[in-house]
Amino acid sequence: MISGKAKIAGVIGWPVSHSLSPRLHQYWLRENGIDGAYVPLVVTPDNLGDAIRALPKLGFRGINLTIPHKEAVMTFCDEIDATAKKIGAVNTLIIENGRIAGANTDAYGFMENVRPRLQGKAKAVVLGAGGAARAVCHALTEAGFKEIVVTNRTLEKAQSLATEKIAVAPWEERSTILERADLLVNTTSLGMTGKEALEIDLSALPKTALVTDIVYKPLMPPLLEKAKARGNPVVDGLGMLIYQAVPGFEAWFGVRPAVTEELRQYLLHG
Ligand code: NAP
Repeated sequence: MISGKAKIAGVIGWPVSHSLSPRLHQYWLRENGIDGAYVPLVVTPDNLGDAIRALPKLGFRGINLTIPHKEAVMTFCDEIDATAKKIGAVNTLIIENGRIAGANTDAYGFMENVRPRLQGKAKAVVLGAGGAARAVCHALTEAGFKEIVVTNRTLEKAQSLATEKIAVAPWEERSTILERADLLVNTTSLGMTGKEALEIDLSALPKTALVTDIVYKPLMPPLLEKAKARGNPVVDGLGMLIYQAVPGFEAWFGVRPAVTEELRQYLLHG
């Protein structure tokens, strides 16, 4: 039940019906007994500016952005934090005193999800070079990874990520570059329900390497099934989705929400 004083936040996407964020935030609102609501808002790219500018006037505390708005929304922010600037995408807005602050919590979400399993790891292979890959590469660089190799179907997009620490390999070499990796991350949409399969041969990958896929529909995409079957430790992508939501919820509703197994089960089956 919400009152006339309810705190309001939501997610803007196009489409947005696939988003798990409303269920996730409503779960935390209920768990914490907060008078608030989190609503899905379908906004086309043409209407994004009008929609964002209306948010402070409507009393919204904040917003998450999903496909395809994470880059375009930056134009409409009054300020953008350093992480979001480096990644070049905003997924969280915090609205206070009429001002819109943009942040990116995808890098944080990715890192929190894998951190407990990263001890001693320093060499990563990242598949993909889209928005999520930029967040993952930022997180790995900040975490002190010594060697990150990015491979992507469109080579130029991978090249745009290159730094002193980030090397680039052609997509055709994705199976052979696994030899030195102690972390493999899939950030492409391949393997997602309804998308093409991710064709990759894992035989060169050390058996101790951690494998994670940020696709969480299905929870165990073929890459993780294949890696698990040959004995590699694996981490699914649902945790990234949950952790990336924590800073926004705390900023909007004033409580740092807990990430629990019950929440995971609720999102999967609830
Ligand atoms: P994006 O910017 O559109 O990037 C898509 C990536 O997939 C690009 O690297 C693209 O390569 C690659 N790709 C697509 N189709 C391909 C194909 N047929 N063959 C080879 N590569 C292909 O999307 P994004 O925002 O980075 O998101 C990527 C995935 O991560 C999505 O499935 C999304 O749902 C998921 N995601 C999960 C979380 C989470 O919290 N777990 C957070 C963010 C995103 P090209 O550059 O060559 O097109």
